[in-house]
Amino acid sequence: MAATLPPLDWHAGRMAGRRRAFLSPALATFTAYASPLAWRRGQGQYLWDLEGRRHLDCMAQNVCISVGYRHAGVDAAVRAQLDEIQHVTTVYDHPQPGHFAEELVARLPAGHDWVVHFVNSGSEAIDLAVLVARLHTRRFEVLTLRDAYHGMQFTAMAATGIGGARQPVPPAPGFVNVMAPHPYRGRFGAEAAPYLDELSRAIGSATSGALAAMIVEPIQGYGGIVEMPEGYVAGAAERVREAGGLLIVDEVQTGFGRTGSHFWGFDAHGVVPDVIVMSKGIGNGFPIAAMVTTRKVAESMAERMFFNTYGANPVSCAAGRAVLQALDDEALPTNALAWGAAFDAAFKPLQERHERIGDVRGRGMLRGVELVAGRRSRAAAPREAERVQERLRRAGVIVGLCGAEHNVLKINPPLCASIADVATLATACDQALAQR
Ligand code: PMP
Repeated sequence: MAATLPPLDWHAGRMAGRRRAFLSPALATFTAYASPLAWRRGQGQYLWDLEGRRHLDCMAQNVCISVGYRHAGVDAAVRAQLDEIQHVTTVYDHPQPGHFAEELVARLPAGHDWVVHFVNSGSEAIDLAVLVARLHTRRFEVLTLRDAYHGMQFTAMAATGIGGARQPVPPAPGFVNVMAPHPYRGRFGAEAAPYLDELSRAIGSATSGALAAMIVEPIQGYGGIVEMPEGYVAGAAERVREAGGLLIVDEVQTGFGRTGSHFWGFDAHGVVPDVIVMSKGIGNGFPIAAMVTTRKVAESMAERMFFNTYGANPVSCAAGRAVLQALDDEALPTNALAWGAAFDAAFKPLQERHERIGDVRGRGMLRGVELVAGRRSRAAAPREAERVQERLRRAGVIVGLCGAEHNVLKINPPLCASIADVATLATACDQALAQR
């Protein structure tokens, strides 16, 4: 007789124990809080813990939950697809991937003959973007920015400019890490021009001058919610293209209307990338990502076989299509814009009141609050950031930490969060900062 599975064991101690006993230790190196936290249920922008306590989720499972937990439209689309078939691999036809690709292309700048290549994670899409750029240009060298985060698989890890995310092994070759603009802390100030000069110097000194690509996040996410200054992305694209390379834009955190002002982060910078990497918000938590490029560039890798078992999974595609529909039906990018304005209105006065808030930045619903020891010194205050994050947790508000020095509160709720939630968040931050 077949053994039946035991019921899910929600006991906090035993859950943590099984994790320690059976999951790889590397999966515990990076956790949200010093003490474990488990989530039992989600709805909209809220999460419930084991004790049934409600939390306002300003992390959205690291920017994945775009349209909200248990979204009726997404869940219905997923169930309908599950009722037919849960997986069709890429060597067969199924209508979901084609429809989803068509609907994504409709959101991109017209007239470029975009094609979509679905994979499962942001890192895989980065890997593919680099591969296609190298094949198309027949060049090898790729520029990336310091403090960039592009993932942790072999290729993506070499593109990531955060030491703690790079394992001490020989990295994938061909990546050159360049000084990143940082309007608040940057060595060269807030404007784009000196960073573009530095980029030219890097191309001249650290590369052969023949580039395959440069990868840029319009707003560095894990790097600290650092928006590229006006003119930087366009100027970088110009220099990279002059050297024969392509512009790869990583929209994993900035895409799908999160910035409010634009559907894609690159839209705010007056550039059309050659390659676009998207993930996270695309599937509202279902594992799907995409590398999008022009047909001409994509054709360079069509001469050989390419296979990705789960790429274009119809359930994930169904979720993605429902996400696009929800973004439109519920005007969520517009909500992100209004939420962002309310966030600024609430946090700018907080910044005046609290010496430890060095900077309040980002766009729409992708926001950072940088904590410092003092306004003048701007010395990073990572311990304070950790304390504030923990106090917010106790107040029922979940935020992340990011930035090269881990001193930036990372705030990116599901796009359905309400203006009233801004007040909840701001009040909790105010109290957490006032507490000594
Ligand atoms: N790019 C960016 C901007 C990201 O934030 C992430 C994930 N945090 C990735 C790429 C990698 O995505 P994944 O974890 O799905 O591999």
